[in-house]
Amino acid sequence: MPLTGTPHIRLDTSVQYVKGIGPKRAEILAGADVRTVGDLLAYYPRRYIDRSTLKRISDLKPGDEATVVGRVFSSEIVRGRTKRFMLLVGDQSGFLHCVWFGGLPYIAKAFKAGDTVAFSGKVTFYRGPQLVHPEFDKISEEGENNPLHTGGIIPLYPSSEALSQAGLDSRGFRRIFRPLLDSLESADDPLPRGMLSALDLMPLISALENVHFPNDWPSLNKARHRLKFDELFFIQLALGFGRAARLEENKGIAFNKPGGRIRDLLERLPFSLTGAQKRVMREIRDDMKSERSMNRLLQGDVGSGKTIIALLSMLVAVENGYQAALMAPTEILAEQHFLTVHSLLEELGIRIVLLKGGQKGSDRKRVLEAIASGDADIAVGTHALVEEGVSFHRLGFAVIDEQHRFGVLQRAELRQKGYFPDVLVMTATPIPRTLALTLYGDLDVSVLDEMPAGRLPVRTVWRTGEKREAIYEFIRDEVKKGRQAYIVYPLVEESEKVDLAAATEGYADLSKTVFPEFKTALLHGRMKSDEKESVMGAFKSNGIQILVSTTVIEVGVDVPNASVMLVEHAERYGLTQLHQLRGRVGRGMDQSACILMAQHPLSDDAKKRLETMVSTNDGFKIAEADLEIRGPGELLGTRQHGIAGFKIANLLTDGRILDAARKEAFSLIETDRKLSRPENRPIREALKKRMHGDFALIRVG
Ligand code: ADP
Ligand code: MG
Repeated sequence: MPLTGTPHIRLDTSVQYVKGIGPKRAEILAGADVRTVGDLLAYYPRRYIDRSTLKRISDLKPGDEATVVGRVFSSEIVRGRTKRFMLLVGDQSGFLHCVWFGGLPYIAKAFKAGDTVAFSGKVTFYRGPQLVHPEFDKISEEGENNPLHTGGIIPLYPSSEALSQAGLDSRGFRRIFRPLLDSLESADDPLPRGMLSALDLMPLISALENVHFPNDWPSLNKARHRLKFDELFFIQLALGFGRAARLEENKGIAFNKPGGRIRDLLERLPFSLTGAQKRVMREIRDDMKSERSMNRLLQGDVGSGKTIIALLSMLVAVENGYQAALMAPTEILAEQHFLTVHSLLEELGIRIVLLKGGQKGSDRKRVLEAIASGDADIAVGTHALVEEGVSFHRLGFAVIDEQHRFGVLQRAELRQKGYFPDVLVMTATPIPRTLALTLYGDLDVSVLDEMPAGRLPVRTVWRTGEKREAIYEFIRDEVKKGRQAYIVYPLVEESEKVDLAAATEGYADLSKTVFPEFKTALLHGRMKSDEKESVMGAFKSNGIQILVSTTVIEVGVDVPNASVMLVEHAERYGLTQLHQLRGRVGRGMDQSACILMAQHPLSDDAKKRLETMVSTNDGFKIAEADLEIRGPGELLGTRQHGIAGFKIANLLTDGRILDAARKEAFSLIETDRKLSRPENRPIREALKKRMHGDFALIRVG
């Protein structure tokens, strides 16, 4: 505790100097990652209410999602078959009950008669209106001035049990923020005045003031706009510096020989490239020709034909005397890529090797030697390719397939090993544009937005157990017509044993009882490599008609004759995964079908996911829906890294602010590469502070 009174409060002052925050609260706040005044003020309201957004109790109808503000009259614990806590709440128009089952001791202590509280939830009727397990925020206590009566907009803050037990509920936060903001009048704004006026941004201090104590809705919107801008601007700035550094590096390779074998490959393909594939190839070749090192993200929905792009660009590198590497996230996919590359390039005199994690002894030695001596032109493999003991003779080009599964760090790993190849990252996970710009602002982006001609969208339905017989009948008919089918069982790490047992049992039943007349096989990640290889090989050549599999087939597997997919326990998957799975069918000219089998009970989110899958085949729409259901952090598994953990910006709806922030950040770097001009120095300082936390991962990209 300070001995000399309150220090000058700045944004980087520790919260322990804030009036109203003692050691206990400071500790609890630290648990929510709030350590400085800046962190604390960035604890933004979850939403706002004023009288215009409230409902009168007498106007409530069953099924409404409503917020009411009322006085607590009485409470009681009712002991029936299930114990419950009932609260009688009234406003000028009438009364309602709020009801809780469970969590009783904490809830029972949360209210006193005379408190004015905002309750939000879904309205039901049982002897009058009631809200079951509503969210609640205390507005004021008996005898205290109720801010709603003075006509203000009231912020409601996110809370947790720990926070509200320490009195840090909405009312508690409001009481801390008022004097804090008053003592903060000199908050330093990192953005220069010229920029504020050019972009019509509210000064930081007013934005903070208005986000916590809005004067009116328009100033609240301007305040939020400013704070969102900051969040996005500093990320774009970090990305922009990374990009500028890469472009200046000059370590890139100029692959400028045209290479006769590229034409040979194009002639050997059983199809001609789509317009989108041609365009993307031009973009890649332009990058490769230039001396700058390439860092390009290729986005293309499942089935859009990314593999051939990888092949052609690797061939460009080989034609220029360099080695190329193709990295896949799973062994099955690496093996499949190896087969594809091999079948198309071997006859052109290109030497290809496959490196896998499990390879041992002389096999592995032979492959490593070929890579090190330069005998191998192309190395296909898993993550094993960037592990210790692998050294390339002259690596010039690296393709990273299915980046979403693989993580964002391969490029950094390659650099650490002293390689500076041009890099092409391919992803079938259609990352919404706003998110891609935010996360991969340092990459150039190419998009395959056209499917090969003749593809029919996969017909998708979701069903529950009762329809099982009919579904098997459907699969039987399809297989009789010469098609092939996937039956997929979920397998997640946490319950791997149980899942594997379910898949194995399911397989036994399917192969012996349900489809004894067909050739079936089981495929899962625990099988030995050569077993997997032979099953996949047999399925590819139609020696197996029904492949029962765990999710190892999720990514990349390409068997155009397979036209039916049955996904068991579809309710357990995320949308992206379902879309990937479904992408295994619909690769040929036949009408394909995907049946999502769900088990009750279904959560609302699970139902939304299934319905999204039924309603669209468009990966971009699916990704948007995913973002909406799950939030951006989870979508990319980056929550821990804080990249997508935006406090106020919403990537779904703030695309325009993002564009403005990006433009401003990039042009700032262009005009003042080191941010050394006096007016830009505060920006540099603010960026540095943020770089310690949120941007740690971006920096290495
Ligand atoms: P993904 O983008 O999902 O990796 P693939 O590269 O596996 O897709 O391609 C899917 C299928 O489409 C493959 O069987 C591939 O041979 C085929 N294909 C790729 N490009 C074309 C094209 N231009 N015309 C017809 N078929 C194509
Ligand atoms: Mg692929």
